[in-house]
Amino acid sequence: MKEDLLQYSWRFGLFDHSNLKTQDGEEIKILANGVINKNAGPDFLNSKIKIGDTIWAGNVEIHHKSGDWLKHNHEKDSAYDSVIMHVVYENGTVIKRTDGSIIPCLELKNRISTNFIENYEKLIQNDSWIPCESHIGKVDDITISNWLNRLLIERLEDKTSVIAALLKGNKNNLEETFYQLLANNFGFKVNGLPFELLAKSLPLTVIAKHKNNLKQIEALFFGVAGFLEQDHSDKYFLELKAEFNHLKLKFNLKPLDVSIWKFLRLRPSNFPTIRIAQFAELIHKSHHVLSYILECKDPKSITKLFETEASNYWNTHYHFNKESAKRIKKLGDTARTNIIINTVAPFLFHYGQIKQLENYKELAIGLLDSVPPENNHIIKNFENLGIKTRSGFDSQALIQLKSNYCAHKKCLQCSIGNKILNQSTKN
Ligand code: SF4
Repeated sequence: MKEDLLQYSWRFGLFDHSNLKTQDGEEIKILANGVINKNAGPDFLNSKIKIGDTIWAGNVEIHHKSGDWLKHNHEKDSAYDSVIMHVVYENGTVIKRTDGSIIPCLELKNRISTNFIENYEKLIQNDSWIPCESHIGKVDDITISNWLNRLLIERLEDKTSVIAALLKGNKNNLEETFYQLLANNFGFKVNGLPFELLAKSLPLTVIAKHKNNLKQIEALFFGVAGFLEQDHSDKYFLELKAEFNHLKLKFNLKPLDVSIWKFLRLRPSNFPTIRIAQFAELIHKSHHVLSYILECKDPKSITKLFETEASNYWNTHYHFNKESAKRIKKLGDTARTNIIINTVAPFLFHYGQIKQLENYKELAIGLLDSVPPENNHIIKNFENLGIKTRSGFDSQALIQLKSNYCAHKKCLQCSIGNKILNQSTKN
């Protein structure tokens, strides 16, 4: 029997509790199963068990066979001296602590329902898109909604580790780090890295000196991005180029190689030229974007900040020197939602964590709840299975569920899996 299923049975008490005895015939009464230990050491911590007339408080270790204790070399490891009971599927070996005292053992063989084991095997061996595909639609809304709440926090916490690493590299400069993350997001999948390089090559301290002049900000962005190293006769291009040539010397700026920017297979509205112009306008509106966001009290005012559009020249251009039909180049709803979900909300959450300010964590969650859900195959598949997605909150939680649980068949650690297994065991 798999150890994780045995752990699950112990955790939820899914075994026959009648007449429990140790290998020496002493009566066992479980007062507290303990909490699962996610770190090194025994599997369950803070368990409380009455053995004979004595109440023991300590830890519990779980193994398929009692001899596994020796296979894992626990007999030499004093971290396991705190084990008050060895819970095994099959007992056959006497196990002792480092001081030679015998560890009481509880054997669960013949105590776990075969129905439960079979249901688990059936669930795990299912190779559908998610193993519980035929059951999930019957799980009650409260279980799903509570689980999604926990998954969302887990997703935000996972994302904060990336932010923390970048912050460290930026000597904890919050504003610069947010600007770099935002830049990466403006490039989306295809131009994320070039955008991040652009932000790293053009610090906010330089932009701040020209914050009131959109043309100079555009010259800085397009110049450092490498576009102004080209030769064109277009009037606006030449104006930006002249501006940049002066700023380049002033700040010792090094233009990137323009070939890093990708246009292929992108819709014109996603071309890096348009995204750079929109980003320049955003930074012009508020060069300290993070400070602006931190002053916002509600999700709506944050979303409004990202209603940004490229400058006039871009209404009739997708490339320098090449005129096109007139179209205002606003950052679209999907792009805005993507930025809020992937950069703004995780950063606010991280900020709340490091500053220990719950209101920012709440604002991050409220922000996710205020934007529409993502529209990708994961969300569509869950919707086809009857799981409703109302907002970015739900879609992020479902992405976490699919990628961190369903994809690894971690159904025993999933509330939906718990519900399905517990129900099927009762039937
Ligand atoms: S992890 Fe949960 S939602 Fe995913 S397949 Fe298993 S039981 Fe279903």
